Amino acid sequence: MKKYQVKIAPDECKGCQRCVIACTRNVLAMGKELNIMGFPAATVQSSDCIGCGICFYTCPEPGAITIYREVADDAQK
Ligand code: SF4
Ligand code: SF4
Repeated sequence: MKKYQVKIAPDECKGCQRCVIACTRNVLAMGKELNIMGFPAATVQSSDCIGCGICFYTCPEPGAITIYREVADDAQK
């Protein structure tokens, strides 16, 4: 089974919450700490990401969200 991870670049996030509302798996939440721009950045709160990409497509900030597919070591050979 494919596994996915979502990562947030805190200083690219403007705290709009779109990704948090859009994620059907409740993977994302708003953090409390302010980023370099003074916005509370989204954070990853669980490992239940299914790689659907909805958060990525709804985010207005290019580079704030990256989704990775985990590849097993033996699959890289
Ligand atoms: S890729 Fe899908 S499941 Fe993963 S965090 Fe984004 S919206 Fe949620
Ligand atoms: S949609 Fe993008 S800018 Fe908005 S809270 Fe999520 S990561 Fe931040």
